Amino acid sequence: MSLQKKNLMELAQKARETSYAPYSGYQVGAALLCKDGSIYTGGNIENAAFSPTVCAERVALFKAINEGKRNFSAIAVAGGKGKDCDEYCTPCGVCRQVMQEFCDPDTFLVLVCQGKEVRSYLLRELLPLGFRQNNLEGKNK
Ligand SMILES: [Zn+2]
Repeated sequence: MSLQKKNLMELAQKARETSYAPYSGYQVGAALLCKDGSIYTGGNIENAAFSPTVCAERVALFKAINEGKRNFSAIAVAGGKGKDCDEYCTPCGVCRQVMQEFCDPDTFLVLVCQGKEVRSYLLRELLPLGFRQNNLEGKNK
């Protein structure tokens, strides 16, 4: 694994500390690498009414997008109930769709970990045939 991927995963694991997950106890951290080299992190934010809950991936993405970033290379996601990330925490469908809006599905990497094991997937593998702007423009034929 490249040093950059390792560093990004370490930042995702550290971002778990920013999580607000009093209901599930499932703390998730994400670290988003922009093509300009900048990194945005996020932790999941739960809510007593459940539906306002936001995943760590979207917190990181929205922070970056709100600051004008539009070009992204990869996102590392680390999560679980315990102190250690002992299971692969893959992004939910809503987060995959948000990634699809801003990231090239053929190059954008999603990194997930289980302990020290890191797997990486192209966004296209996680969201095949995803809905894009092309669909709205009638160009997805
Ligand atoms: Zn999600």
